[in-house]
Amino acid sequence: MKILYAVFLSLLLTACATTPSGDRRLMLVSSEQMSKMGVTTFQQMKTAQKISNDSRKKDYVECVSFAIINALPDQWRNKQWEVVVFEDDSANAFALPGGKIGVHTGLLKVAETPSQLATVLGHEVAHVLWRHGNQRISMQMLAQTGLQVADVVSQQSVEGSTGRQMLMTGLGLGAQVGVMLPFNRKHEQEADRHGLYFMAAAGFDPRQSVALWENMDKASAGKRQPEFLSTHPHPENRIEKLNKFMDKSLMLEKEARAKGLNPQCTI
Ligand SMILES: [Zn+2]
Repeated sequence: MKILYAVFLSLLLTACATTPSGDRRLMLVSSEQMSKMGVTTFQQMKTAQKISNDSRKKDYVECVSFAIINALPDQWRNKQWEVVVFEDDSANAFALPGGKIGVHTGLLKVAETPSQLATVLGHEVAHVLWRHGNQRISMQMLAQTGLQVADVVSQQSVEGSTGRQMLMTGLGLGAQVGVMLPFNRKHEQEADRHGLYFMAAAGFDPRQSVALWENMDKASAGKRQPEFLSTHPHPENRIEKLNKFMDKSLMLEKEARAKGLNPQCTI
């Protein structure tokens, strides 16, 4: 029994990995496999969903996306990223491991300026860099398989249709498979904070993040809430917390401008 327990513990420990801020978290899926799954999922979405043929929207979204990507740490900046605009009225966007970004045309009505769009994309990219999808999938796997760790760490457990559903919900794409699983508050706060730093380091105006979240709220008044908010709920006092990170963000923006980073993205 003691030996089994020790084996179990060591498996769990080796299954932990660190986030860019140095926290150890449970991650049962390898980064390579997460990337592979992200790429496959994105490919399926491109086949199943309508891609916008508005080249102005595509250029605009690419301009904002690549400005942020170019401000990421080297290992992420040097990846090959793909950005696709989907013809979809719901206000949503997502980023997947494997360097994929999807933006719905509906988001462009809520995010009124490049810096507001950069707020959402910075947030999404931060979810990927902090490997929140992996952590969510890991928790789901543990919940579903109990202590059958051997199964959990085997590749088969994230393949097949159950695996696909787990992956989609883990990556925040619940609407596509009919299972909404919101990111937890801790993940939302991390994505807000580091997303803000990323967009500011790209030369966007971090103060506009406040207007973006206000617009999201306005869009949810009365009608169905924006799809984004159903999978990315407000952490407590979101705007208050953003203001806590504003000094550092403004400094990053200033540094970016000094380096000549001043993205001019227009639609
Ligand atoms: Zn989020």
